[in-house]
Amino acid sequence: MDKYEKVFELAKRRGFLWNSFELYGGSRGFYDYGPLGSALKRRIEQIWREFYVIQEGFMEIECPTIGIEEVFIASGHVGGFSDPLCECMNCKEAFRADHLVEDVTDAAGTLSAEDLTKVIREKGITCPECGGEFGEAYEFNLMFKTTIGPGTGRQGFLRPETAQGMFVDFQRLSRFYRDKLPFGAVQIGKSYRNEIAPRQGVIRLREFTQAECEIFVDPRNKKHPNFERFADKELVLYSQKGQVKGESFRMTVRDAVKTGVIAHEVLGYNIALTNEFLTKVGIDPAKLRFRQHLTDEMAHYAVDCWDAEIETDRFGWVEIVGIADRADYDLKAHARVSKTELYVYVEYEEPKMVTRFTVKPNMGKLGPVFKGKAKAVADALRQLSEEELSKDEIKVTVDGEELTVSSDAVDFAEETVKVSGENVIPHVIEPSYGIDRIFYGIMEHAYDDENVAQKAAESGLKGTEEAGKESEAEGEEETRLVMHFASGVAPIQVAVLPLLTREELADPAKDIIARLREKNLLVNYDDSGTIGRRYRRNDEIGTPYCVTVDYDTLGDGTVTIRDRDSMRQIRAPITGIENVLYELIYKDRAFESAGKPFNF
Ligand code: AMP
Repeated sequence: MDKYEKVFELAKRRGFLWNSFELYGGSRGFYDYGPLGSALKRRIEQIWREFYVIQEGFMEIECPTIGIEEVFIASGHVGGFSDPLCECMNCKEAFRADHLVEDVTDAAGTLSAEDLTKVIREKGITCPECGGEFGEAYEFNLMFKTTIGPGTGRQGFLRPETAQGMFVDFQRLSRFYRDKLPFGAVQIGKSYRNEIAPRQGVIRLREFTQAECEIFVDPRNKKHPNFERFADKELVLYSQKGQVKGESFRMTVRDAVKTGVIAHEVLGYNIALTNEFLTKVGIDPAKLRFRQHLTDEMAHYAVDCWDAEIETDRFGWVEIVGIADRADYDLKAHARVSKTELYVYVEYEEPKMVTRFTVKPNMGKLGPVFKGKAKAVADALRQLSEEELSKDEIKVTVDGEELTVSSDAVDFAEETVKVSGENVIPHVIEPSYGIDRIFYGIMEHAYDDENVAQKAAESGLKGTEEAGKESEAEGEEETRLVMHFASGVAPIQVAVLPLLTREELADPAKDIIARLREKNLLVNYDDSGTIGRRYRRNDEIGTPYCVTVDYDTLGDGTVTIRDRDSMRQIRAPITGIENVLYELIYKDRAFESAGKPFNF
């Protein structure tokens, strides 16, 4: 079994992830999050909110998951959101045509459907399932279509990303933030993509959760007011140049921005923020890098674009977050399709005196020629550019009719006026997170099967009285499955275990649980099986701390707190135990200090 299989075996058995619709044979690309999976996913989302909503101050909005056609015409999804599909003519199985040719050409991702068909024919690539021949490759749009309303209704689509909600609501958001750049909004929710061949668990789903943030910035100022926070943070970068050499490198955010590796401060800050978030929720920093999009994979409008990638056992490096400077593309596209100008009026620090060219239509001359239309002609003239006005015969369109105006019916003047601001179309910086992929990354990076005796020796338990107490350090060849979740995301944060199911031990245990729950900790009560087995069960679901209530508790008012990673145990007073555990979980308190009273 590779790690992917091991992780999935545990995920299914312990209630993290289940195949959706299993009762009916399942359907590819859909997964259910079981009780522990849902709890872990909510923790990831909650920490994401702490980062983006609370710390960064970008408020959350919630838009429909069904979108009307205009939105996706403007965004380009109707026209171009597709992958090349190739069907086996024998077994009818569908494949991504670019994935089929990946092994024979480096340029697979950039080839047209026609070229992909050619490569498949030339190289004699056949169906991996049955060996059958492939039909022609063609572009398959990944959006799920639906109709809105009864009958033929109106064409709608399940949203393929949450981002469009923030663009469509741009004017409302701008008012909400009092038209002050920069501002931003986030959305966490489901997105839908009818992926051609999802065979990678929660890495490629047809319904998945995104957490996206759209930050609207002044295009003339891409400095970040809080840049110093991460300026000296070293990131692992796999830049365009690095990819040519096949080497990633470490560099501070300051140096990366200074040398132009990362386009500007706002992007640098956001890449570092992503790094901070991912390591906080438990992505292994040694298996995390930031890869810059190559010129041919970057959208033409994008200024710069980086993906956070994690290393996985089966799939190699996988993109889990995209961080892009999308310039003014989205707002301009929606302005065009909705025929509504989308901009922010930005005031200058000091008003400016500006000399401008003005048009003064001569009504005395326009009136006799154009009669009732003279005013409309004058208005149309005021809209023309200096170049159009300087022609001998000036053309204007009034009510769909093209009219010619003689140049002597128009006077010009230059005037100097005081201007206090201008209309600006903001640029958009977009960190786009795939929560399910992060979830899988956390699971795989947390997973370990350890030799218990070896681990006990490392933690200084072997042969000591403590090791005896551990009872689990005894079996020499025993291995334990342990999920080393960061304590802030663990689905169960504390397990409370009465040594025996007797009432005199169960009662104080239940009292401890009530106090831990008051601190909003996720707690589990477990009284079945030996203590060693209960520790094992909790190791497997990544419970960072177990609290054991035994007969000494009744005598001296202390309990045992056991640390998942080191398997060390400490005796601690029952009084204030909820504060001790809270600090261990959220405040990075050293486990060694858990037995001593804390100062609050
Ligand atoms: P994209 O808009 O394609 O850049 O996607 C943004 C993020 O959503 C990616 O970094 C992924 O983490 C996630 N994502 C995209 N497609 C899928 C999918 N089919 N299944 C799960 N996550 C996805």
